[in-house]
Amino acid sequence: MQLSSETRLKAILDGTGAGTWEWNLDTNDVIFNERWAGMLGYTLDELAPVTFGTWERLCHPADLDLAWKALQKYLDGKGPQFECVIRMQHKDGQWRYIHTRGMLLNGNGQPRWLMGTHLDVTEEKVTGRRLAQLAESLPGIIYTFVMEPDGRYYFTYMSRKVEDFFGLTAAEACANAELLFQHIHPDDLQAVHDSIGNSFATLQQWVCDYRVINSGMTGWLRGVAKPEREPDGKVIWQGMVINIDDEKRLELELERLSVTDELTGLFNRRYFLRKLEETATQQERYGGEFSLVSVDLDHFKEINDAYGHPVGDLVLKRFGQLIQNRVRKSDVVARTGGEEFLILMPQTSLENAAQVTDDLRSAIEAESFVSDENQAFTVTMSAGVVSCREEVVTVRELLSVCDRSLYKAKRKGRNQVMVQYPASETRA
Ligand code: GH3
Ligand code: MG
Ligand code: MG
Repeated sequence: MQLSSETRLKAILDGTGAGTWEWNLDTNDVIFNERWAGMLGYTLDELAPVTFGTWERLCHPADLDLAWKALQKYLDGKGPQFECVIRMQHKDGQWRYIHTRGMLLNGNGQPRWLMGTHLDVTEEKVTGRRLAQLAESLPGIIYTFVMEPDGRYYFTYMSRKVEDFFGLTAAEACANAELLFQHIHPDDLQAVHDSIGNSFATLQQWVCDYRVINSGMTGWLRGVAKPEREPDGKVIWQGMVINIDDEKRLELELERLSVTDELTGLFNRRYFLRKLEETATQQERYGGEFSLVSVDLDHFKEINDAYGHPVGDLVLKRFGQLIQNRVRKSDVVARTGGEEFLILMPQTSLENAAQVTDDLRSAIEAESFVSDENQAFTVTMSAGVVSCREEVVTVRELLSVCDRSLYKAKRKGRNQVMVQYPASETRA
């Protein structure tokens, strides 16, 4: 059965739920269909006589100007069609959002008819607004990021929270993604780009912790986003960025605590052994020399017994400072036991290490301590020094050689430094 064009058009319009309107720009005559009136709760009869003024009367006064501007733009040839969303009042008094589209039909010399449709988009508007409100209430930024196969990238959506985190508006970030990337800490920028590149290639979730600089303040952010590849090869990430400052501060503090000796603030044994292993591996690979010093305070038990544990603690703290004042930045100093210390000196010859250690011995010997009862006393130390050059030894062996030197110094009467020379030739 052949349907007439008119029947087919009507069926299509009924299917879309669109109201239709026609407006003669020259005579101001208007034609609306029944659906046009029904959208606002009326029948055409109820609105009769239907004139151009009927439309104007139903429009929200604040939106009329918007409609006129959109029309003018279209008539000026700046758009493929006349299009705007305006509020119109339903019979029940409520305002509905109406998506209005139209096109001009003007045959040569014929009257100019603007013809178009009305579609109720209130639900979409409300849902959209709810989503925007939801985005605002989230503790982080939500966004859509796109990367083209040629590597170009941009944001197509960014929630307003970006202002708090990056100090720029969502519109600015969407117009130029680089503005946002410029706020990333220079030390983290490469890692951010690398992780995005990796996610692009593997389509694995993008997760990255990085620092951002906003108005001179540095803060930690964590980005998490799920990538999806489009048929044309571009990848789209939907993601979220949250502030992890507190978490990061705690993490860094825990990390610091896990490698630190609480009393002296020096490193602990665990950290020292890690560094020693690293240094030994490097030396094995690239050559060079590093030295190791083992120090133990002399007759420290007697200090504790005579002046009390808290005074002993003060001595340990002060001794820690004396070591720190004498070593290089690259040296690693640890309190590895009660009154036992280890010093790792990378790129340092045995002679230099022995010299630094003997300076330390003189310094602690010269230091005068005072007890709670104002009794002055002094403390001495014994030390063993070894160095690692060509010979391949394990870290465990090296530590044990160093300790043996220390015990030798103790046996020989304390307050001295015993150096373990490579050819097993020892000198005091
Ligand atoms: P030596 O010259 O042979 O090393 O004698 P010493 O008394 O120093 O050696 P010993 O190992 O017998 O005693 C170490 C003492 O160090 C025992 C303990 O009272 C003290 N000590 C260990 N840890 C701490 C600490 O954290 N604070 C204080 N105040 N004393 C500590
Ligand atoms: Mg000891
Ligand atoms: Mg001791």
